[in-house]
Amino acid sequence: MTSSPRSITVLGSTGSIGCSTIDLLLAEPERFQVRALVGGRNVALLAEQARALHAEVAVINDESLLDTLRTALKGSGVKAAAGRNAVIEAAAMEADWTMAAITGAAGLEPTLAATRNGHAIALANKEALVSAGDVMLREVAAAEATLLPVDSEHNAIFQSLTGSPVESIEKIILTASGGPFRCATLETMREATPEHALKHPTWSMGAKITIDSASMANKGLEVIEAARIFGLSNEQIDVLVHPQSAVHGLVQFRDGSLIAQLGAPDMRVPIANTLAWPDRMQTNAPRLDLAVLSRLDFEAPDEVRFPALRLAREALVAGGASPTIFSAANEIAVEAFLDRRIGFLGISDTIAYAMEQLGSPSLDTLDDVLHWDAEARRVAGIFVARERSNSLKGAEHLHA
Ligand code: NDP
Repeated sequence: MTSSPRSITVLGSTGSIGCSTIDLLLAEPERFQVRALVGGRNVALLAEQARALHAEVAVINDESLLDTLRTALKGSGVKAAAGRNAVIEAAAMEADWTMAAITGAAGLEPTLAATRNGHAIALANKEALVSAGDVMLREVAAAEATLLPVDSEHNAIFQSLTGSPVESIEKIILTASGGPFRCATLETMREATPEHALKHPTWSMGAKITIDSASMANKGLEVIEAARIFGLSNEQIDVLVHPQSAVHGLVQFRDGSLIAQLGAPDMRVPIANTLAWPDRMQTNAPRLDLAVLSRLDFEAPDEVRFPALRLAREALVAGGASPTIFSAANEIAVEAFLDRRIGFLGISDTIAYAMEQLGSPSLDTLDDVLHWDAEARRVAGIFVARERSNSLKGAEHLHA
């Protein structure tokens, strides 16, 4: 890294990825000058982070919390702002490096606003790239921005590529922990509660991605994300269940070499890679002790128990708005599962229903993305309401 401080913005600073990012910034505050920190509702944590890092501005999405934020920042010199427009304005502030870590489609417009500055975007918010696809990639290219993948698997591929051209890749392998239901029967999964699904065996993450991990919709989103970032086809992206979560991703080159990146399951490692890129920085993340680990297991994923992975691949191959529909329907389904309005298997049923109903319309503009995102949410909402009143009976056809 250069000696002058890098200007930094963190979108979603109060979340799991956001807090890991703040941890790295706090470890070397002289290297970074924080411009904007953005949170959703956790005003106390946002104010604490902004004070600790002397941010220029702290923005809370929930407008009703503006006075609370102002009070919490009194005397700190940090400006306070609130509301969706303020979030987008903060994202658009010039910054050398922006962490995009707002969950779901809510992160799309702020991420695009940051992209237009033409600097580095550390992309955690995979839903934005899945949903907006080429629309987002065009913005990245037009602004000459640099997209740095934060997702541990994509960051592993990014590191394993070591600058080799895409043409030298035969295929990549994304690993999956398998989540809490790796060995569960369909019956257990049908009865699973949010508490059960939120118990991830290896990673500590926000609620939405933890449920996505349990259903393997997360791996589905990641297959689409990898296709977008690395310009690969569905056939070039393999998924392997690897319960130890030590190997995060592998690249198989045309010459037969297989290069992997390993590390403890701690998101500070990939975040640090993007924060220091193209250099390296010190982290306090635990080190992987291979002698203690002693073995690495890999197995093929089960697309019968985890149909969301198959549906994501279908969406990728269908193209157009299919990935947008997949991602938006999944968001509605995860919310409904966490609210106990549908069962766990209802998540993939909701996605399948929305995809079936809406097909794969073309997608050329941001307006198209927003339109099909809204449509998928509407259709998924209908399915969820029906599921609820049918006491999950409609879920049977997919898993019979
Ligand atoms: P969390 O739920 O922990 O955090 C989400 C963040 O977004 C919080 O800061 C939240 O604020 C903020 N937020 C939510 N809605 C809005 C909104 N409308 N406007 C502004 N801010 C908002 O999620 P994670 O950190 O786990 O995940 C973030 C993203 O990173 C996701 O897209 C996920 O898929 C991806 N990712 C996460 C990984 C992980 O290990 N956690 C790994 C790889 C990718 P608040 O809490 O204050 O309401």
